[in-house]
Amino acid sequence: MLDYHLHLWPHGQRDTAPTLEQVADYCERARSVGVGEIALTEHLFRFSQADRLLRGFWDDEPDEALRASMAAYWDDHARADLDAYVECVLAAKDAGLPVVLGLEVDYYRGRMDDVAALLAGYPFDVLLGSVHWIGVWRFDDLGDPVSMAQWSTRDVDAAWGAYAAAIEELAATATCDVLAHPDLIKVTGHRPVAPEECWDRLVEAAVTSGMAAEVSSAGWRKPVAEAYPAPQLLERFVARGVPLTTASDAHRLADVADRSAELAAMLDRLHVSTLRAFRARSGVDVPVASPALES
Ligand SMILES: [Zn+2]
Ligand SMILES: [Zn+2]
Repeated sequence: MLDYHLHLWPHGQRDTAPTLEQVADYCERARSVGVGEIALTEHLFRFSQADRLLRGFWDDEPDEALRASMAAYWDDHARADLDAYVECVLAAKDAGLPVVLGLEVDYYRGRMDDVAALLAGYPFDVLLGSVHWIGVWRFDDLGDPVSMAQWSTRDVDAAWGAYAAAIEELAATATCDVLAHPDLIKVTGHRPVAPEECWDRLVEAAVTSGMAAEVSSAGWRKPVAEAYPAPQLLERFVARGVPLTTASDAHRLADVADRSAELAAMLDRLHVSTLRAFRARSGVDVPVASPALES
């Protein structure tokens, strides 16, 4: 098993520098439950390099409350140093820890060439592609009343459709390797009567782009109380031969490799026997049960 989606800092924690000890603790916890390799995938928007590149992408949003909410969220997060993060993970790799260097990258419409140019300057193993925002609406920010209020005024079908469109656009930019939490739009539990159309679009986006899809336990820790992707969506990914990773999306040590046994059971039910690991942005298929990988 893999845990290919990990954060070092909880949202709300500021100005911390990553340490080798922290990465070692993550590896040890993963190993203790049979997860052989992890990827550190901090959010791009936690770094001052992203601030310099992308600040103000919310300026065109007509809704003043949403615009202010995103500006405040951004200011709260875009503070750490990407160079220090990369150096720390590379030092952990050099020390022989079973970790690869990743990043979780949001979709910035019209700006992904700039994002790709920034990221090309670093030796990433894997880039997760995520949609947490529709326009500047942070539909999964459960702690933000402004964002959550939108769920009672927006049409659920339209929200799911806009989410699928953003995933399609992100996949088409070929910036990233893995679709993170593929059906994140379900996070609050609002679902369309017929989600199949959205599911089919997500699967097609993965197939067309060659991206892998992430199977994540994070949804079990959210109001929707269901893994990402939904069982029916996972079936569709598997049927189309989309490569898979497994992940916890932990933001703290206690959640590292969370419910990896349940994820393994989901894969086993569908007779999935390999997962996709990454080295220098190239996919490597590894057995699901593999306790450790060659680096
Ligand atoms: Zn995410
Ligand atoms: Zn994440």
